[in-house]
Amino acid sequence: MKYRSTRSSVSASVLSPASALIQGLAPDGGLYVPVKFPKPTWDLQDLLHVSYQTLAAKILTLFFPDFSSQQIQQVVSDAYSSQWDDEEITPLVKHDDNYYLELYHGPTLAFKDVALQVLPWLITRSVTLEKMNKDIVILTATSGDTGTASMRGFSDQAGTQVIVFYPYGGVSPVQLKQMLGQKGQNLRAFAIKGNFDDAQTEVKRIFNDQDFKAKLAHNGYQFSSANSMNIGRLMPQIVYYFYAYAKLVNRGEIKLGDQVNFAVPTGNFGDILAGYYAKKLSLPIHKLICASDKNNVLTDFFHTGTYNRLRPFYITNSPAMDILVSSNLERLLFDADKENEQEIAAWMQALDQDGHYQVSESLFTKLQQLFASGYAEEDQVEQEINRLYQLDGYVIDPHTAVGSYVTKQYHEQTGDTTPTIINSTASPYKFPETVFHAVTGRQVDAKGLSAIKQLHDFLGGSLTQGVQALFDNQPRAEQVITKDKMEAIIDEQLKLK
Ligand SMILES: *Cc1c(COP(=O)(O)O)cnc(C)c1O
Repeated sequence: MKYRSTRSSVSASVLSPASALIQGLAPDGGLYVPVKFPKPTWDLQDLLHVSYQTLAAKILTLFFPDFSSQQIQQVVSDAYSSQWDDEEITPLVKHDDNYYLELYHGPTLAFKDVALQVLPWLITRSVTLEKMNKDIVILTATSGDTGTASMRGFSDQAGTQVIVFYPYGGVSPVQLKQMLGQKGQNLRAFAIKGNFDDAQTEVKRIFNDQDFKAKLAHNGYQFSSANSMNIGRLMPQIVYYFYAYAKLVNRGEIKLGDQVNFAVPTGNFGDILAGYYAKKLSLPIHKLICASDKNNVLTDFFHTGTYNRLRPFYITNSPAMDILVSSNLERLLFDADKENEQEIAAWMQALDQDGHYQVSESLFTKLQQLFASGYAEEDQVEQEINRLYQLDGYVIDPHTAVGSYVTKQYHEQTGDTTPTIINSTASPYKFPETVFHAVTGRQVDAKGLSAIKQLHDFLGGSLTQGVQALFDNQPRAEQVITKDKMEAIIDEQLKLK
């Protein structure tokens, strides 16, 4: 098993899984992908009655065979343990004839925990495997949830430092409280004056600044990434696609081999790409429904074949999806475009310089066979939360509501009756202001923790451990910088010489 970049030939970029995990992003600006996509030795039937942990071990072993299966078994049993408030890890529930795959039962209340409870282990063991004598600096741009989950995952992990950049005013009060309150000597978070795309673009630039890299190395440091551009973020997310499918078969909702759809609230295209990889590993997926918020650059792309980031940027009630440059789309295009690295490099350069690119007619047709897409405006998001709540008391968060709304629209427009699983990406308590307004029609009295209390008083029931933990943490003061200061702040924080 080897990896290579989406923008260079195999011979110019091939490397081991461990190196790909450590580097995170290729030096040519591309993303790492398997040179040859692995072929499972198991078939679907074998996966039906195994635990989440065993399933995770089977899938991770395919992509990271350098680790022994014993090591992998150990890491997944630690990663998917009592820090999750549901034994199933990712429970699947049925409402209004759709299935909601609840991916938010981990410590920071969003699906990012699925991967970020495993990634620190993968990276630190890779450092050992590669006999690399350096501390890892995890550089992360976040629209909110990756920051909280990576700080939690890497907290006080020996040999690692974490520096998170998030958009000032662009994350929710609860996300902010989680980032500023997470304990750990090795954790730092900075607000930048700009949006997520600004943060991500600058992080990618710093990653590939060769002088700065050399300076880091001289000081005993090496960058890595906890963003979904790191393969270690993607592969653990393939697991729950299989898990959900097995659940449906076991419950008699479908027969083994039947097709299903997955609807995925999408931002950086990581989660939905994991679904695409699940299909490559032979999971019977009919459609992947790509759901966007008002920042609907992907909806337009899947309808026209042109990706155009030159448009207004909106801060919405689904902040984790407020993104105009969806990095992982590059991996999809690379795979669907017969691994034509030159074409990919040209498109990505056009995106960077001119702000847009257009894929070939044949590639566009191919993508349309597998992907459906749509988007929801903010008021439609609230209506959808309200609709489900009125129906049977089920409460979803705004990101999940985008997926749910687009699913409903998709079913109405196409008449497709394939069973559909909606990835439920965050707990409603992570975005209590929007959820409270959606279900009651009233604004909360105050944001953040008090909004959680107010929502809880209204809904009743018990609060999960992840939500309760929010009330115990003591947030640090927020530090705000301009985006041109990001590199300087890293330099200063790591005391580089
Ligand atoms: C990150 C995130 C998304 C978007 O996922 P991508 O992998 O970036 O497409 C959706 N919902 C929530 C709650 C998130 O945290």
